[in-house]
Amino acid sequence: DGFLDVLKKIEDGQDLTHSDIVLLLKTDRKAEMEALFKAADEMRKKIIGDVVDIRGAIEFSNHCKKDCKYCGVRRNLEGLQRYRMTEDEIMEVVHSLHNIGIKTVILQSGEDAWWTRDRIAHLITRIKKETGMKITLSLGERPREEYEYFKKLGANNYLLKIETTNEEIFKFIHPDDDINHRKECSSWLKELGYLNGSGCIIGLPGQREEDIANDILYFKDMGINMIGIGPFIPAKGTPLENYPTGDVDMTLKAVAVTRLVCKRVFLPATTALASIDSDLQADALKAGANTIMLINTPAKYRYNYQIYSDKNMVDLKSAYDAVTGANREFPSYLKIDMEVYKDAGNTEK
Ligand code: SAM
Ligand code: SF4
Repeated sequence: DGFLDVLKKIEDGQDLTHSDIVLLLKTDRKAEMEALFKAADEMRKKIIGDVVDIRGAIEFSNHCKKDCKYCGVRRNLEGLQRYRMTEDEIMEVVHSLHNIGIKTVILQSGEDAWWTRDRIAHLITRIKKETGMKITLSLGERPREEYEYFKKLGANNYLLKIETTNEEIFKFIHPDDDINHRKECSSWLKELGYLNGSGCIIGLPGQREEDIANDILYFKDMGINMIGIGPFIPAKGTPLENYPTGDVDMTLKAVAVTRLVCKRVFLPATTALASIDSDLQADALKAGANTIMLINTPAKYRYNYQIYSDKNMVDLKSAYDAVTGANREFPSYLKIDMEVYKDAGNTEK
């Protein structure tokens, strides 16, 4: 089949095969890429509507017992000042997010043993009691029993990316991890009723279009609900520091195809894209993405959570700009799903 045949399949509501997906990912013709993004944009409109979800992320600890080769907070990275926010510091940010109308807070950290089951449980309970906000956890691999306990206390979503379904690449970049265990963790999260988040990194060493196509089909088969797709960005002081940055067009194509294949999912316009160029979040929102995560880690800690170098700030203003097109033309039909900020944005202008 050619490119147009595959687009026709999408229009007719047929499922795409692995080779269809590879064909879409491989195109580097401008007109074809635009047709792909347009199809994904239409799918987003049809399935989700014209709403961009804004969530607030707090990176509350950069301590990590793991040594993932790509990551700028890995255990063996030297010269990094390690921090751990206190529960009160976290709650202060949670309240500020709640006050501006954000409905979901993302709690992310390295795999930090200090944050035991009971400490996380205490934090979840406080957030629920004091704000009623939805909680997304992104704490890495934990025992099933802990996932279950956090769910019982009111955690709603969990983000644990597979990063790549290619077993060799997975092994190469994860000295501490086993791909089958990672998949098992993800299926526990699903069984336990979390909105289940996964995702992959685009541009890993040795990764091909065929691998990315497998990732996308894996998300579909696993019934993943949130899919974070970002380019690899080299982090200083890591074993991958001299590898090239992941390709932006490939990332956007992967976002678009994921929307077309997985349909009803949350697809963030990732911070990693924004770190390459602040306009790219708007491009992702035009290629099927529908979510933005703000970085709300307090300024004094943020610098030490550079999981990749020169990580960009995504704040309310940049998110608002990406959605409304303050910087350039952008489809004005997209609306931010945040009651209070809608007004704040108007009065600020
Ligand atoms: N420790 C938890 C985990 O690994 O799931 C949560 C924090 S971890 C820093 C969050 C995500 O950062 C990972 O899933 C990975 O995709 C992303 N990440 C880390 N280093 C990266 C890099 N150099 N380029 C792109 N993404 C990166
Ligand atoms: Fe730790 Fe997550 Fe970074 Fe791996 S990706 S080193 S688990 S923070």
